[in-house]
Amino acid sequence: MPEYEIAEIERLMDGKLPWPRVQEIMKGAKDSDRFDKWVEVLQGRVEWPEKILLPLTSELFIVQKDGERVVKCRCGQEFGDYRVNWKLQSLIHTRDTEEELQEIYQGTEQPDPTWVQIREYYCPGCGSQLEVEGVPRGTPPDFEFLPDLDTFYREWLGRPLPDEKEFADKTPDVIKEWSA
Ligand SMILES: [Zn+2]
Repeated sequence: MPEYEIAEIERLMDGKLPWPRVQEIMKGAKDSDRFDKWVEVLQGRVEWPEKILLPLTSELFIVQKDGERVVKCRCGQEFGDYRVNWKLQSLIHTRDTEEELQEIYQGTEQPDPTWVQIREYYCPGCGSQLEVEGVPRGTPPDFEFLPDLDTFYREWLGRPLPDEKEFADKTPDVIKEWSA
């Protein structure tokens, strides 16, 4: 099993490794601790102390915090339990008129605003654009990635996380509270 220096993994992540070297790494067997090195690099680039359990996007991470697992932005903004769609805690800009869609699409590419809307999700802490989705009007925000963290750590990494949690989408519970 090859072993790579963390500095080399970091350069790989940043696209700074020469292409011939990238090809060598791609063709070779994966190092067994690639995930840990990847997370170590990411952890070194954030200013907060909570341990990263899994990156969700380039800006968002699931972290361990006081026995809970919460979604946290690179800037420190928190979005709550990772089993609830973080989009509910974000700032949402919806494009659903012809004029607003024209800023993105041109000519025949433009979707019909009576059917489709574009939703842009922003972090309330730093204003980063976190996600964009084009969906039929009225559909709930797409919950793109709900990882089974306990199975991943237990079965794949061979080191179970402390205090296992029920693996379930908790988003409907929150929406129910809002409408109560
Ligand atoms: Zn942020």
